[in-house]
Amino acid sequence: SRHVVIAGAGHAGGSAAAMLRQLGWQGAITLVGEEPIPPYQRPPLSKAWLKGEATTESLLLRPAHFYPDAGIDLRPGTRVTAIDRAAKAVTLSDGAALSYDFLILALGARARRLPLPGRDLGRVLELRTVADADQLKAVLHPDARLAVIGGGYIGLEAAASARALGAEVVVIERESRVLARVAGPILSNFFQDYHRGQGVAIETDAQVIELDAADGTVAGVRLGDGRVIPCDATLIGVGVVANEALARDAGLGCDNGIIVDLAARTDDPAIFAVGDCTNRPLPLYGRMARLESVPNALEQARQAASQICGKPPPAPEVPWFWSDQYDLRLQIAGLPFDATETVVRGDIPGAKFALFHLAADGTVRAVEAVNASTEFMGGRRIIARGKRLSRRRIEDMSVSMQELAA
Ligand code: FAD
Repeated sequence: SRHVVIAGAGHAGGSAAAMLRQLGWQGAITLVGEEPIPPYQRPPLSKAWLKGEATTESLLLRPAHFYPDAGIDLRPGTRVTAIDRAAKAVTLSDGAALSYDFLILALGARARRLPLPGRDLGRVLELRTVADADQLKAVLHPDARLAVIGGGYIGLEAAASARALGAEVVVIERESRVLARVAGPILSNFFQDYHRGQGVAIETDAQVIELDAADGTVAGVRLGDGRVIPCDATLIGVGVVANEALARDAGLGCDNGIIVDLAARTDDPAIFAVGDCTNRPLPLYGRMARLESVPNALEQARQAASQICGKPPPAPEVPWFWSDQYDLRLQIAGLPFDATETVVRGDIPGAKFALFHLAADGTVRAVEAVNASTEFMGGRRIIARGKRLSRRRIEDMSVSMQELAA
């Protein structure tokens, strides 16, 4: 029988396996994953899971019995160690070899490591896996002092959850504002103010020089200006690096991720790549990008499964993302590439607003919505259709989103 091997059993790999069956793949499917448990969702790790509000069952993408029921041979705790493209076979860490008709690389990304003195001390943590989240959870008791290095989504979500657990939190950011890499200044300032209002200290323009130790455990974060931020634990959240070595070693094109087309295919027609490990085309924006989001993992899993099953390619989607912090639900549609103007719709101090990012010709490129799902949904439709809007109409709350998106 024909055989699809999937390397990596995260959100993208687990979804690709399920979608292959949904689309009618009759052959064998082997899902090889390095982590010890079946595919699970990472978003709750910095949110509900960290706060102790989620169960293992709710974390799993699908119940464990789904895989045998669907005839998917799940191999947890196993790495794919090499690809032999000529023989169409992979080698596994347990010594087994598997031949494939199609190979899907769903290798994800790993936390970026800072070359920081003190990096290997006890209680210096990162947050990518459920094992990481459990270590962090274990130190987040009331009155614990957590220093978060990096004011990106993961750092800020962890800060919000840590506050909910009663810990003291300092966020240390190298740039002049949090979320500098992923959001515009208005949104950054809003989140900064909101976190400060919740008792989080935020140090911007702060350079971390080293981590100080007491008895082999981190005790403080030393900054470039000589100050030391005392802490009982440090979370480093300074972005991720695509897991592309397996593909690069096999001679596949990589550039900040494994390069794929809109069918999620690499330069080998038998090998696909999906999720955080890819650098993919964005037809709406006329460029390539590496996206780190669940919607992207699902979209690319569908692209690969459709191609393998000989089904028509799915329609391209508008990229989107969400983040939950405190009682704030941030939803972002699109990406602010080439945007020259930002228009505010709604009430920033009231924490219910959307920021529309427009290109010079008025085309809407991205909408960042805080507690404003209607604006987010409408924004996705507007972006998908390449619609232009004027500042005056966006700002005018008497014009409904339905009218704006029409
Ligand atoms: P991963 O989920 O990283 O899965 C890859 C898997 O492959 C891993 O299990 C890895 O161990 C395994 N693997 C790697 N190499 C090998 C190998 N050689 N052999 C076998 N297995 C291998 N996204 C959102 O859209 N919204 C959110 O709110 C959000 N919150 C997040 C919060 C946290 C704490 C984190 C960490 C991520 C969050 N994300 C969020 C991002 C989202 O989880 C990722 O985009 C998504 O998990 C990507 O799925 P993936 O399958 O590509 O990669």
